[in-house]
Amino acid sequence: MQEAIKNGCFVLPSGEKILALHHYAFEDGMGESYCAKLDTGCMLMAVRDDAKITCYKKSFQGGSKHNAEEPLHESYFSTLAAFSRQKKRSKAVTIKIKIFSCVAFFVTLSGVIFLFSTRGDSEVVYRGQTKEEAFYYVASLIKYLPEFKTMPYTVSLPEQKDFEEVYQTPALLEKKAELLRKIFYEEVYDASKFDATLEILRQTEDVVKQALKKLAILEKNWGFKIKKRYDIVLTVYGTGGEYRWEDPAVGTVLVKADTRKTVRGYTKTILHEMVHIGIQETIVNKYNLSHWETERLVDLICSTYLKDLLPEYGMQKSADTKIDEFISEEAIVKNLPAAIERFVAQYPRDGQTIQ
Ligand SMILES: [Zn+2]
Repeated sequence: MQEAIKNGCFVLPSGEKILALHHYAFEDGMGESYCAKLDTGCMLMAVRDDAKITCYKKSFQGGSKHNAEEPLHESYFSTLAAFSRQKKRSKAVTIKIKIFSCVAFFVTLSGVIFLFSTRGDSEVVYRGQTKEEAFYYVASLIKYLPEFKTMPYTVSLPEQKDFEEVYQTPALLEKKAELLRKIFYEEVYDASKFDATLEILRQTEDVVKQALKKLAILEKNWGFKIKKRYDIVLTVYGTGGEYRWEDPAVGTVLVKADTRKTVRGYTKTILHEMVHIGIQETIVNKYNLSHWETERLVDLICSTYLKDLLPEYGMQKSADTKIDEFISEEAIVKNLPAAIERFVAQYPRDGQTIQ
């Protein structure tokens, strides 16, 4: 990007002029940031965190509130650095530097802290289910067996005669729970079953981390939830993939071992469930989306926004496609809640109030 000086002002390619610039350097030398006030009332933030550069613009309303932040090309950083150097070289600066208000300073600081805290560096842990988790999971699958029968899923369960009796009559579960637990711990559960699949599963880590970096942009733009840690838990039971979103710090993705599945197949399952975790509170619960509306939305996010990481993503056939016309890649990136608001306005939720 070429910076230009017109009438003593630095002019950005957007035509905006830099009125004032603040530079913050972090003590460890690993990062620095620039915050520029522009003549359009916008603030331009450029942050170097070690080798990574992030630039974005905020526009202000009423001095303190801001609306959309636009991600910008990282060359904006070098323009601001050049402006800063020029400012230091010449004391006879023609630009009148205005002192930033406290509000602007705190917004800047919070912006920097925010960027440092959302670098897609969540911890990703791969492990097999413990015997306690596995038994609890099998029991919950048995409880939901009548519902699974109405859905196009195949449910894997222990092949053991005492368990098979309960599959026929799920009401027996409570009566036989302690006996089943003993049988499960002593005869059924075998942690060594996980070893080979865990090897394959761990090969998804690079792509999973790349996806988290992309999803962090959605977190910044509209509140997609990124957890501090993701547990990728291998099971030999269930339907294929499941997720747990309730823990504020940990997202759990349950993945069923499948000998036909490749690294790509597991990657698809893991990212699909991570997208579920990310939209559960801010979208699915808030707007009361149905199961198949949710599945379609997750499929659309995976097949458009994450398509570079999931090039062969297959859409679920049973999903509800009414939502499609409201969802574009732009809507996913910039403001998915606004798109969903338009969807539920067109297809109101029965007897439910949207908060
Ligand atoms: Zn799903």
